[in-house]
Amino acid sequence: MNLSRLIKDNPEITARFMDISGTSLVILTDVRYRILECNQSLAVILHLNQKPLGRFLGELLCPLEQNEFNVILSQKDNGVLLPQVLQVCYGEALYRCYSFEIQEGFLIFGDRFESADNEVLESMSLLNNELSSLSRELSRKNRELAEANRKITELMRTDPLTGLANRRFFQERLAEVLALARRKHSALAVILADLDHFKTINDNYGHDAGDRVLQKFAALLKENCRTEDLAVRFGGEEFLLLLPQSTAAQALQLAERIRGLLEGADILGNDIRITASMGIAELAFEDTMDSLLKRADQALYQAKKTGRNRAVIL
Ligand code: GH3
Ligand code: MG
Ligand code: MG
Repeated sequence: MNLSRLIKDNPEITARFMDISGTSLVILTDVRYRILECNQSLAVILHLNQKPLGRFLGELLCPLEQNEFNVILSQKDNGVLLPQVLQVCYGEALYRCYSFEIQEGFLIFGDRFESADNEVLESMSLLNNELSSLSRELSRKNRELAEANRKITELMRTDPLTGLANRRFFQERLAEVLALARRKHSALAVILADLDHFKTINDNYGHDAGDRVLQKFAALLKENCRTEDLAVRFGGEEFLLLLPQSTAAQALQLAERIRGLLEGADILGNDIRITASMGIAELAFEDTMDSLLKRADQALYQAKKTGRNRAVIL
């Protein structure tokens, strides 16, 4: 139904309605909300002698709690008609207005209501319900977001193949652990482990077999350390154990246990023995993060140089 056409085509009905509309408002404006026509009621509520034709609607009615004049169009996409409460400027009276866009302007219907108006209370309570369901939805979304963030953080810290901590997370943790060891004057050791001749595993049995070996070795590391220790995939076939409150001698014991378990495991089910070399370093008074890791690396190098499948302390 084209309302503006209807009005234009039925001027006498429109005029008649304007006459009998009582306290209801009927206002026709141009696109800038300049009043082209209105019923007598508008003049009455504004205490004017004649209709305020040619005036701007915003000078006469204003949205509640808003300085700038705007009219919210009532017709929404879903077909629901939304009212807007407008207040008579320099007065108290409130009008519930429905505004429609018509050709080259707007048509506004308003009816007066008191603040105790049931319908208003009803729509307010509907709005309140909607608000609380929106806030429930929001907290659900927030919980989902927090969970997604937790997963992302975990993924950022984890090596996807082995599930161990990655080097990035290790760097973060090392700084904390080192500071704590210094403060508490407690021991701290690292084991750097590197699989021996791993390239030949890949070359002889394929990359997938190599991956299985990496996963098994990672599991061995994880199973054999304490909760306060951190097992890290350092890169490629190189792993690291960060051992708070451990001396080099204790780290050596652990390294030997893991080395023996690896050597004894028939990971690929073909009787091929896989071994690892390990370098151990314990935090010394003058150490930095880098110097500690460097010493472990040198120890690993020694282990490789002196025949592999062994652990060396430096
Ligand atoms: P060394 O005893 O001196 O350590 O010899 P190596 O063969 O173990 O050492 P090298 O550094 O020559 O080779 C390491 C190999 O590890 C090469 C690389 O292709 C393989 N590698 C690194 N990352 C992965 C991985 O994620 N999966 C598999 N399957 N292989 C990997
Ligand atoms: Mg290697
Ligand atoms: Mg290596």
